[in-house]
Amino acid sequence: MRHILHERFSYSDSILLVSGAIQNFYVDNYSDFNMFWEIIRDHFPDKLFKSKKETILHEYLWWISNNSSMIEDFRNSDYSQEMFVFYENTLKDFDVRIPSKIIPNFEYIEGHGFCGKCKSCKKLINYVDWIAEKIDEFKPNIIHSAFHVLMLNKHFLRDFHERLAECIDRDKARLHQLHSEYILETGKIKRMSSLPVWLKRGMFFRDKGVCTICRNPLSGDLFLGIDPDMDHIVPLDKNGNNDPSNFQILCNKCNNKKRHYSSATSSYDIPYWNLPIEDQE
Ligand SMILES: [Zn+2]
Ligand SMILES: [Zn+2]
Repeated sequence: MRHILHERFSYSDSILLVSGAIQNFYVDNYSDFNMFWEIIRDHFPDKLFKSKKETILHEYLWWISNNSSMIEDFRNSDYSQEMFVFYENTLKDFDVRIPSKIIPNFEYIEGHGFCGKCKSCKKLINYVDWIAEKIDEFKPNIIHSAFHVLMLNKHFLRDFHERLAECIDRDKARLHQLHSEYILETGKIKRMSSLPVWLKRGMFFRDKGVCTICRNPLSGDLFLGIDPDMDHIVPLDKNGNNDPSNFQILCNKCNNKKRHYSSATSSYDIPYWNLPIEDQE
């Protein structure tokens, strides 16, 4: 067995972050996304051109996350018990033990209402600060966990990269002027000469070794040293980019059919309980 680096995931907070990201993307207007685009365009254009492990999606999740303040959320919720239960559970994902001496007397505070001035209320405010600081410490793990959840949502990935493609198209002159080795005047980003092995392995693992569209298994290919077709969900011809979140695996036949024209993907997946059981077949 080759060594695999295991990482701690937090699915408590990350799922809330994912739902916030989806809501922000679909519900809020385009001006928000344009603000995000300016961050990518001005600070991380390399992420568009070459696959990086810290993806554009990570940046999006950081951006969503930085736009809200946990301390403010606590305040706005009138320090609701639900909020505490939620973040205490998030800290459990990281095996953080909360020292009992810093836990405020919730019953007392509930009895007299939050005044913000008495000893108990001040203890509560300090407690919130303590939680916020701890959560901040684990933010990279939370973002990374959220990335893994969002990577399963192929329709979101397609829509996300279609919107990025619109931004690339709009700013193509500027991008080409600054990065002509990676992007053509037409706004088309150049194909990478070869894709990193970690990316091919990772996509095969996420897509469970089956073609995203026709669902035929490609397993075996990887072990035979044959690469499955790595497809750009939003094609480079349509101003798609080389970020890992814009890839999926396809069989040769589906890839030939999709070509440069379509951003076809699928929300099919394989439920845990649906794996074939040999002696029942
Ligand atoms: Zn008080
Ligand atoms: Zn196929």
